Amino acid sequence: MAEAQYYLGIDIGSITGKVAIIDREHNLIDRVYLRTEGQPINCIKKALKMIHERQGDLPIAGAAVTGSGRKLLQKVVGADIARDEITAHAVAAVDYCPDVKTVIDIGGQDSKLIIIRDQLVMDFAMNSICAAGTGSFLDKLSDQLGVLIEDFGSCAICSTDPAVISGRCTVFAESDIITKKNTGYKKEDILMGLCNRLVENYKTNLGRGKHILPPILFQGGVAKNQGIINAFEDVLKKELNGTSIIIPDNHDVLGAVGAAILAQEEMMIRELENRSTTSSFLGWKIPDINYQTKSFLCKGCENICEIIEIKREGEVIGRWGGKCSKWDVSEN
Ligand code: SF4
Repeated sequence: MAEAQYYLGIDIGSITGKVAIIDREHNLIDRVYLRTEGQPINCIKKALKMIHERQGDLPIAGAAVTGSGRKLLQKVVGADIARDEITAHAVAAVDYCPDVKTVIDIGGQDSKLIIIRDQLVMDFAMNSICAAGTGSFLDKLSDQLGVLIEDFGSCAICSTDPAVISGRCTVFAESDIITKKNTGYKKEDILMGLCNRLVENYKTNLGRGKHILPPILFQGGVAKNQGIINAFEDVLKKELNGTSIIIPDNHDVLGAVGAAILAQEEMMIRELENRSTTSSFLGWKIPDINYQTKSFLCKGCENICEIIEIKREGEVIGRWGGKCSKWDVSEN
């Protein structure tokens, strides 16, 4: 076990899956960012296969998962721990910038605001219901304008007169965009207007009552959009107090990096407590393992719970969704 010195982190959401491998000093050894395309298990199997092809049999000393699909993926990869997204993103932010006081994270399916003081999370807000403050808002509306999402930011910052886009939800914004497009607004002005709208929605939904202070880190897939960065710097001018928003390296996989750091911390705690430090990670054979998931309704009482079940090579390894322990799978 002495040579095992890498830690694996997985961040699995409903739209994207991210995998990161770090060494003991937290250097990023490899990373993968993929769309789940509705199949989170296949997404992570594919990501692990890509890393294995590039890196070979890296010895993994600890593995952790975060993100909305963490319970499922913990079973799939045999991760040592599963942690919530706020913790994973905060840990990665503090590792990148020890003085960080505010983290803005906007991914495809949710957005977060994390308030940090003295390297500890003091407050947070998360939005996973309303699309109007997330990357999917930009995805959907750039599609309306026939602009590739990769070109969104560079096109938006060419705007000299951003349009005012109405609407706190995608439906209203979409109809406003169609009207503006038909009345001759320039594409770049509509795009920059959309950036301003997303940032205003974010501030209204998540920023209310929060004490935003610099240094401010901007993480998540949307942090590569220069139009959004500019809009944040404009809206948060007072809070930034002459500083700039910091975009960390590998901002799009920092949830996975944070999970990998948490895996390392978990193993250090186990060592201090004289517990086994052998990782339960199933290893690089995961892409070849056969998993099946299914759901069914339990009619054991009037709750009629929907139970999700996952099998590995025909053996049940996990079930979720019950309001009682009837379908729980015992750990061994
Ligand atoms: S899982 Fe438990 S609570 Fe849910 S329907 Fe079945 S018996 Fe009732």
